[in-house]
Amino acid sequence: MKLKELQEAAYQANVDIVKHQLVLLTWGNASAYDKDLGVMAIKPSGVNYEVMKPSDMVLLDVETGKVIEEGALNPSSDTPTHLELYRSFANVGGIVHTHSHYATCAAQANHDIICLGTTHADHFYGDIPVTRKMTQSEIGQDYEANTGKVIVETFNARSIDPGYVPGVIVCSHGPFSWGPTVSSAVENAVVMEESAKMMVHTALLSYPLVPMQQDLVDKHFLRKHGAGAYYGQNSDSSSDR
Ligand SMILES: [Zn+2]
Repeated sequence: MKLKELQEAAYQANVDIVKHQLVLLTWGNASAYDKDLGVMAIKPSGVNYEVMKPSDMVLLDVETGKVIEEGALNPSSDTPTHLELYRSFANVGGIVHTHSHYATCAAQANHDIICLGTTHADHFYGDIPVTRKMTQSEIGQDYEANTGKVIVETFNARSIDPGYVPGVIVCSHGPFSWGPTVSSAVENAVVMEESAKMMVHTALLSYPLVPMQQDLVDKHFLRKHGAGAYYGQNSDSSSDR
């Protein structure tokens, strides 16, 4: 992928998260990463969506964390979080961060997004975890990089594969999602928000929440993502969600 295409992909994702009503004001950012180039393109800091253009996307070397173009705008303040995730999680080509309402409510309640139905299980193989609270020193210094480290720690501590659960909610903050491409990260952000919304409303009807049966989680996730995946246009089966 050329650098210009990487900027285009990041730009489109930043436009799409607004279109999908996941972002108010400038509370969101998306980045696209090309592993072969070792470069990511991310939204500039504090630029309004109405005037933003693809060439404004800031290009950084993921290994060094340095901006690679002279005269570029300042990258999003969440850039160190994106860098940590690209360095730690394999096969991630795009990351989205928003303060979408219901996923952020779960973050504020320190509550996993529990896998309750097939909407969730089609994209996430189990509960979407909430991180632990960050410590005073993690907040005081290198806060954004430490946010990424706490996310990685959560997946390691709970033995969750970030390829199977492509999202997290940072405690008292909000959701991050990712995927092999930045457009898939956007889709996962949309599904995470909808799943969180459904969880909140399900809890009004019945609490405590009861996770769905593992057989049905397996059926829905693995038919799309596992080795035996069959969902989609190249299949004899045409079942819908
Ligand atoms: Zn944030």
